[in-house]
Amino acid sequence: MDQAAARRRLSALLAEIDSSSATLLAEHGDPGELSHIDQHSAEAATDLSEVEREETVRTIVAGQRQEVLAALARLDAGTYGVCVECGQPLPEERLDARPEAARCVNCQHDLEMAR
Ligand SMILES: [Zn+2]
Repeated sequence: MDQAAARRRLSALLAEIDSSSATLLAEHGDPGELSHIDQHSAEAATDLSEVEREETVRTIVAGQRQEVLAALARLDAGTYGVCVECGQPLPEERLDARPEAARCVNCQHDLEMAR
C-alpha cells in the first residue's frame, strides 16, 4: 500500500471512530433512557451492567483511536509499514486488513502471549 493510500485509509478510520464515539455519547446522554432508569429501579443492576458494557466499548474505541493516531505519526516520521518491534516490513495483506497495525503477526502474537 502506498503512503498516500495508507493516509487516506487511516483518516477515514479516524473519522469513523470519532463519529462512533459521538454516537455513544449521544446515547449515554439520552433523557429518555434516564427516565427509563427511574421508572424501573428494580432493573438498576441491568442498567449498571449496560453502563459497564458501554465503558468497555468506549475503552476499546479510545485504544483503537490511539493506534490510528500512532500509525499517522509513523507515516509522518517515514517509519510506516515496518514492525515497531523487529523492523521487518509488514505484509501488504496485513496493512490492508488493519492499516493501523504497528507489529508483524509474530510480534503481535508475542505481545498477546506476554499479557
Ligand atoms: Zn515484528
